[in-house]
Amino acid sequence: MSLATASPDLSLRLLTQMTKRQEELRAMLRAAADARENEQPTDVVDFKDVAAEESRAAVDDLALSHAAIELSQVSSALRRMEEGSYGLCQDCGEAIDERRLMALPATPYCTACQTIHERPAPGRR
Ligand SMILES: [Zn+2]
Repeated sequence: MSLATASPDLSLRLLTQMTKRQEELRAMLRAAADARENEQPTDVVDFKDVAAEESRAAVDDLALSHAAIELSQVSSALRRMEEGSYGLCQDCGEAIDERRLMALPATPYCTACQTIHERPAPGRR
């Protein structure tokens, strides 16, 4: 495995870290899917209970969609590691700073491109 930028020690550490994270996220999503399957329809009459149940489900959904996004980022970062393009920005192709990789191992972009991607949609302030 040859890496474009990151030092061997760092890339090994990030590989371990991301592999572990990938497993965690997969387990989390699998558990959520199982829980959903086992869910029994209940006859809830109390509106407060219904509201509480619904808001809890919304929070879970949000957490799960974040987990799904993170999982896809981690998976593609691991794939880039195999391909040898890990550590290069997917937008401009520049090497991503090692400190940034340590903080966000699965990031596909360098700091500059990330800023562009995070910019709010035009017309919104
Ligand atoms: Zn870039």
